[in-house]
Amino acid sequence: MDERLTIHYKHFSQQLVEAMPWPMLIIDAGFQVVYGNRQVGPLFGYKGKIVGRRLGQLLDDTAILQLIEASIEAGSIQCGEFDRAGTGGAWKVSVTPIEHRETGHERRRVSKNQREQEHAEMEPDVKPAGATAARPAYHYFSVVIEDLSELRRLERVRRDFIANISHELRTPLASVSLLAETLEDAIETDPDKAQVFVERIESEVQYLSDLVAELLELSRIESGRVPMSIEPVESEMLVREVMARLLPQAQRHRVNLRTSIEQGQTMVAADSKQIARVLVNLVHNAIKFTPSGGTIIIGCRRQPEETLQSFFVKDTGIGIAPEDLARIFERFYKVNQSRSRANFIGPGGGGSGLGLAIARHVIEAHGGRISATSTPGESSTFTFTLPIITTVM
Ligand code: ADP
Repeated sequence: MDERLTIHYKHFSQQLVEAMPWPMLIIDAGFQVVYGNRQVGPLFGYKGKIVGRRLGQLLDDTAILQLIEASIEAGSIQCGEFDRAGTGGAWKVSVTPIEHRETGHERRRVSKNQREQEHAEMEPDVKPAGATAARPAYHYFSVVIEDLSELRRLERVRRDFIANISHELRTPLASVSLLAETLEDAIETDPDKAQVFVERIESEVQYLSDLVAELLELSRIESGRVPMSIEPVESEMLVREVMARLLPQAQRHRVNLRTSIEQGQTMVAADSKQIARVLVNLVHNAIKFTPSGGTIIIGCRRQPEETLQSFFVKDTGIGIAPEDLARIFERFYKVNQSRSRANFIGPGGGGSGLGLAIARHVIEAHGGRISATSTPGESSTFTFTLPIITTVM
C-alpha cells in the first residue's frame, strides 16, 4: 500500500465505507454496532445514534438476524434476500467476517462444539491427530444491505406490462380468427351476414392498430422523444376547439356537452396539439361512461394561487370507485375489463387503458398535474393544470 495511505488509513477506510452507495454496518460478534455509514439510519428509519446499539434494537427481522448469526457462528460469508413484511419491498443482505489481527487479547470465537463438529467433518486423511479447526477467528462482521424494493417494483411493472399487452392483443386476435372462420362459411350461403362479419373484423383490426399506435406514442412520450412545442395558447380557444370537435359525437349519444369558461383571457404555456388531445381523450371517456341524457362540462378556471390555470371535464356518468381512482392513470388500467370492451355505454368500443397514462405524461411534461375525483354512480371530474404565462383582462 502507498505510504501516504498507511498514514491516513483509518480516515481513508472510513471514507470508503461512507462512499458506499448502500447502507453498511460493522457489528461485533455480540451483535453490537461498532460502525454504521450514513445510509443506515434512513434505511432503518432510525434517527438516534446507531453505534453502541444492539442490532436487534434497530432491526426487527428474525430472518435477517438469523443470517447474521449464521455468519458469526460459521465465520463465513452469508447472503440472502428478504421480503420486508408489509412494505412490498425487499432487501439483499450480505454478511462478511472481517479479519482483524491487531489486538492480542482478542481470541478466536469458535465454540468448543463447533470445533468438535468441524473436526468430525474433516476427511480422515487430512485430519491431523488431535487437530482442532484451523480457521481464523472473527470479531467483526460487515453487514451490507441493498434495498431491492425499486428493482422489485420495476420487475412487477414489466411483468404486468407483458401480461396486459398479451391480453389486449390476444382478445381481438382470437375474435378476428373466429370471425374469419365464420365468414368463410357465410360468404356463399348468407352474403348479408358475411358483410356484418367483415365489418366486425374491420373494427377489431382498427382497435388493434389504435392500440399499437397508442403504445408507440406512450413509449415515445415516456422516453422524452416527443418534444413539446410550448407556446402561448388561449385557454378558451382550447376548450372551444375540443367542444366543437366532440359535439357531434356527444349528440349522437344523446349527452349534453357544455363549456364553462371563466371570464378573462388567460394564456397558458402549452403545446396546443398535445393538450387538445388530452382534452379530447377526457371528453371521449366522459361520453363513453355517461348514459344518454347526462351532461358533460368542459371548462377552465384560474387556480387560487393565480399562476396556474386548471382545465376540467366533469360528467354525470357511472363514476369511479375510490380503489380504482388511485390507479386509472396507470398503463392499461381499466376499471372493469369486460365492461370496457363489451358493454360500454357510449361509442368507441373498449379502450386500451392507455389514454389516461398518455394524458398524465403530456401534462407532466408541461409542468402540470392531472387528477380525478368521483362520486360512484353520480359523476367524475378530471382536472389538470397548466402554467399561466400572461393575462390580458
Ligand atoms: P380507456 O382507453 O380504456 O378509456 P383510459 O386510460 O382513458 O383508457 O381510462 C382508463 C379507465 O378509467 C377506463 O377504462 C375507465 O374504466 C376509467 N374511466 C376513465 N374516464 C372515466 C369516466 N369519465 N367515467 C368513468 N370511468 C372512467
